[in-house]
Amino acid sequence: MHFAKRLEKIPPYLFAEINRKGNELVAQGVDIINLAVGDPDRPTPAHILQVMHEAIDNPSTHNYPPYQGTQAFREAAAKWMERRFGVAGLNPNTEVVSSIGSKEAIHNTFLAFVEAGDYTLIPDPGYPVYRTATLFAGGEPYTMPLKAENQFLPDLTAIPEEVARQAKLLWINYPNNPTGALATIEFFEELVAFCKQYGILLCHDNAYSEMAYDGYKPPSILQIPGAKDVAIEFHSLSKSYNMTGWRIGFVVGNAMGIKGLTQVKSNVDSGVFKAIQVSAIAAYSTDESELQSVISVYQNRRDIIVKGLQSLGWPIQAPKATLYVWVPVPSGYTSTEFVNLLLDKCGILVPPGNGYGAAGEGFFRIALTISDERMHEAIQRLKDAGIRYE
Ligand SMILES: *Cc1c(COP(=O)(O)O)cnc(C)c1O
Repeated sequence: MHFAKRLEKIPPYLFAEINRKGNELVAQGVDIINLAVGDPDRPTPAHILQVMHEAIDNPSTHNYPPYQGTQAFREAAAKWMERRFGVAGLNPNTEVVSSIGSKEAIHNTFLAFVEAGDYTLIPDPGYPVYRTATLFAGGEPYTMPLKAENQFLPDLTAIPEEVARQAKLLWINYPNNPTGALATIEFFEELVAFCKQYGILLCHDNAYSEMAYDGYKPPSILQIPGAKDVAIEFHSLSKSYNMTGWRIGFVVGNAMGIKGLTQVKSNVDSGVFKAIQVSAIAAYSTDESELQSVISVYQNRRDIIVKGLQSLGWPIQAPKATLYVWVPVPSGYTSTEFVNLLLDKCGILVPPGNGYGAAGEGFFRIALTISDERMHEAIQRLKDAGIRYE
């Protein structure tokens, strides 16, 4: 028996590996502080659970859902885009499709638009699926390095003309995982112009649009006039509403983008359980104070980690969004060496920056998904081990 060649090109999923390492140590009795995986540890808000309880008892939710999502869910998504971002006039029938969480929709978008030999323009460091989905589709990933000196925005002028001409998709993700960086409206405008010039479908993975702090409200790419001519945007309920296990989100924007994705999906999956779609509609009507109570938990943890690391000499600023702090490793270490040191000396599990792409070398990522006490303990363990940024 052999795996298909396409599978041999795909590395094990980053977090599958990290979880394996962590579980192994836990099995040996080590008290591991797991700061690795961006999976919210808090429960889904009660009003969403209440709606789910009722929806699941209603037999009309039990049969196959429509492939593209229920009419009510797509309408709720379009209304939320207008309420939240001021993006009006989205057609729920042609410009919105439900997803089984963004990961699925991201992968399937590559299958819809990328052929053998086509380039995809993807961020480095970046969410690993952009790269693996390119390989599954037979395309060539062209990485756009995100550098600290450019505020972790890609430099579009560094993309060679012949690559841009052969590129089918350009992926961005702001607020950014793993760097915590934000995009400006001006940068979004540049991206829309660039993708129009080269006929590229611009894909914005906006998984962290609601995970923002200090009053900051991340924008939608669809706020840019004319963006819908070239752009689709991926939204997910996973992070904002502590719903990672529910598997629901939506994709919105350019009708041809939505049509291509829907055509792949209707041949691959059979939609999202209707009771979950009903619950997601309730999530989108969560009131602001409830949402803030979800967010403030992460904001507090961010402050514990950032202040703690600053007290140990780290030159970092508090990120204004996402569940992550992107931290440089002290000089004299590679990312992998430093991450192994944290595991061996402190029992702290974090992913090395280069796990997100070569340009992530020199960093590691901290996820804000464990309790305040454990965050304090992580900092204490660093102190006790004499680990500082130097
Ligand atoms: C978490 C995450 C996703 C996937 O979210 P799901 O909707 O749970 O599949 C997509 N993109 C980025 C950048 C993420 O961090």
